[in-house]
Amino acid sequence: MGSLSLAVSDIQTSTGGMRSSPTLLCTPLMGTTVDQMLIEMGKAKEVGADVVEIRLDCLRKFSPQQDLEILIKRSPLPTLVTCRPFWEGGQYDGDESKRQDALRLAMHLGASYVDIELEVAYEFINSIHGKKPENFRVIVSSHNFHNTPSSEAIGNLVARIQASGADIVKIATTALDITDCARIFQIMVHSQVPTIGIVMGERGLISRLLSPKFGAYLTYGALEAGAISAPGQPLAKDLLDLYNFRLIRPDTKVYGIIGKPVGHSKSPLLFNAAFKSVGLNAVYVHLLVDDVEKFFKTYSAVDFVAGCSCTIPHKEVALHCMDEIDPIAKKIGAINNIVRRPDGTLTAFNTDYIGAISAIEDGLRVLNSANPAVGSPLAGKLFVVLGAGGAGKSLAYGAAQKGARVVVANRTLERAKELADKVGGQALTLEEVADFHPEDGMVLANTTSVGMKPKIDLTPIPKQVLKHYCMVFDAIYTPKDTRLLREARESNAIIVYGTEMLIRQGFEQYKNFTGLKAPEELFRTLMEKHA
Ligand code: NAP
Repeated sequence: MGSLSLAVSDIQTSTGGMRSSPTLLCTPLMGTTVDQMLIEMGKAKEVGADVVEIRLDCLRKFSPQQDLEILIKRSPLPTLVTCRPFWEGGQYDGDESKRQDALRLAMHLGASYVDIELEVAYEFINSIHGKKPENFRVIVSSHNFHNTPSSEAIGNLVARIQASGADIVKIATTALDITDCARIFQIMVHSQVPTIGIVMGERGLISRLLSPKFGAYLTYGALEAGAISAPGQPLAKDLLDLYNFRLIRPDTKVYGIIGKPVGHSKSPLLFNAAFKSVGLNAVYVHLLVDDVEKFFKTYSAVDFVAGCSCTIPHKEVALHCMDEIDPIAKKIGAINNIVRRPDGTLTAFNTDYIGAISAIEDGLRVLNSANPAVGSPLAGKLFVVLGAGGAGKSLAYGAAQKGARVVVANRTLERAKELADKVGGQALTLEEVADFHPEDGMVLANTTSVGMKPKIDLTPIPKQVLKHYCMVFDAIYTPKDTRLLREARESNAIIVYGTEMLIRQGFEQYKNFTGLKAPEELFRTLMEKHA
């Protein structure tokens, strides 16, 4: 196989001729006794796996004939039998011929697959020549725990595996960067034989989540968090329930959240449930990205990535990779929502400010019993923003755009001044804001992290000034009910929760991604349930 370019923009077209049969989900059984494995295989079936991998090397004691007979015959799912030796990252350090004997025995006892390492595959396959039962297949595997080699080197490896007589090729490499997955995707798309391509490690997660898009024969999903058989392996339950694994096809559009860290994000939960609820052929994944520019250059196809949410630390850097930026987002200097247009270009938005400002406007309308159709209730209001970081900028620009008179108060006065100058407002220190009450009926928006978990007893402003505000918003959403909001309520101000900003910015992102209105009730229910 010749060298392949890094960009995967060609993948979409090449997937046109791919087999349509779904990628299998295989759950490794890591029990140390036969009884444990029997329990695990029952659970794997319940979860919805298609195949179980019996990891013989995990068993503390092993009587080949007796144990294999029990495990294979009693399994409610087809079995893949593996006995991974130490020299390939497994736990077996016994005699090599006994290991291969056990695999041959598994074949005779009715296993659907055995996995044999490339180093010994030629001799193993020769030894079973003419004896293979119908429907039995040999997976020949190669594991690289250090990196993901060049496309050319991987191509050569695939050729060697195929030449060994493999029915199924398995290549597992290690991701040093999320873009390493692209080389494995290309191999799978171009491979003439069934292939399992996995990029191990947390940066390789998409190689597993998106395996059906690229036509993988099978992927692995763990039964429990503590029972993974390789680094970065997701839970089978998450593959099925969180990432809609069964619905992913070659033409599925891929969305995701880019960030570092990113694993904590609940966005995949919201977006995948929303896509499923309206039957959209799309998936939303966690994207652990180190280098934003490299990421967008590599995953440049219209369907991958079709769009992204963007979180810390990439909200500013990502600006430089965009073809078009929403004017307010440009002023704020931070983006959190990126959409790929049909012509392949990237357009960015900042939905944080839309989410926060719309929540505050709705709160004010309730307070004034105002008609939603008549202008912004923020027009002419004195709007005090505490904080001048990312969220502070969103709130200050958003409020100024609605005609509010903006005051920015920040611990570091220089940053307050810089932002206040840009929005045509006034700057204060946090101490000064405690004595600042030129009028009553002001609006307060906290965007500092003061009061956030774990320091939930703190508040950014003394309670006694809160009586001058008719409304108080807190961007913090952990906890939902901050000390500031409790004290504002006691001071008779209307309060707006940070969770409202969070959820509404999500509605906007969904609209930008799909052109559809977000299923708001579904988003709210999921947020409540998983808060
Ligand atoms: P950021 O860019 O790091 O800004 C942090 C701000 O907090 C700065 O103004 C900083 O002041 C101030 N600050 C930090 N520690 C302080 C302290 N001990 N005393 C006084 N001021 C302090 O962070 P961000 O992205 O804007 O996020 C800020 C908060 O908003 C976080 O709680 C975040 O979770 C929340 N947020 C919520 C949403 C939502 O959807 N609800 C969205 C984005 C952010 P200096 O300039 O002096 O450092």
